[in-house]
Amino acid sequence: MGIPSSVTPIFKRLEGKVAVITGGASGIGEAATRLFTKHGAKVVVADIRDDLGQALCKELGSNNTVSFTHCDVTNENDMENAIDRAVSRYGKLDIMFSNAGITGNMKDPSILATDYNNFKNVFDVNVYGAFLGAKIAAKAMIPTKKGSILFTSSVASVIGGIASPITYASSKHAVVGLTNHLAVELGKYGIRVNCISPYTVATPLVREFLGKMDKEKAEEIIMETANLKGGILEPEDIAEAAVYLGSDESKYVSGVNLVIDGGYSKTNPFAS
Ligand code: NAD
Repeated sequence: MGIPSSVTPIFKRLEGKVAVITGGASGIGEAATRLFTKHGAKVVVADIRDDLGQALCKELGSNNTVSFTHCDVTNENDMENAIDRAVSRYGKLDIMFSNAGITGNMKDPSILATDYNNFKNVFDVNVYGAFLGAKIAAKAMIPTKKGSILFTSSVASVIGGIASPITYASSKHAVVGLTNHLAVELGKYGIRVNCISPYTVATPLVREFLGKMDKEKAEEIIMETANLKGGILEPEDIAEAAVYLGSDESKYVSGVNLVIDGGYSKTNPFAS
């Protein structure tokens, strides 16, 4: 687990930084919003869940440090507005955390149950949405010759055969492709590009999903991540990595796919 909510870190690792976090209203994005503000960043939460986003900003935003904007990551105007909000309200953009993502058809994740629409829906959000966030962030960052772009991929980007649809696994591989390409293309402007690839994280949705599952299967999934950590990953564990990759502590880190899975992908015989 990350820093308990009552604790203020001694070193504010993101002091003076401005971030946009897509999918910032729930799960990993919410944990990142909380931790980024705790570390001194100003944050624009960009999400389609206006109810959750507004409530979170109200809770955290007593001194104009966090602001919500409705943003569907597949919509260019929404994304422009989110970046404009960061620049107009807080003066610049240092960190773009393109984190929003969807899973796709979990009822039947097999290839035989997958069609064009399944692919399009998942790729629109997970790949085109990540691309669009990076593109519009790059416009704001290039003139300043610095910046950190982060994506949330998944452990499904390095292994096959885990309980996710083929659309999800292939979209998350594509996010690694975006990372590799953009680390080179944007590196010449001083912009770093990385992604984070978690194994199962106990977000509200996952807890609900595991709750509906056969108890043995749920325990199996939890135990697979337990080899290093003694339990399922929490959103704060991923947010800590995002703080590091957004901060100047990682100033020479670019083009990395940071897998956070307690070593799980190294124990899987299908790991690449
Ligand atoms: P979550 O559902 O709790 O949060 C996702 C957020 O993204 C929600 O607030 C949702 O409203 C928002 N969102 C969805 N579609 C959007 C769109 N079109 N535009 C803007 N916002 C949109 O889930 P989470 O687990 O926190 O997921 C965050 C990221 O982490 C995703 O990219 C997901 O694929 C990835 N991930 C999650 C896990 C896990 O086990 N939870 C594991 C690996 C990777």
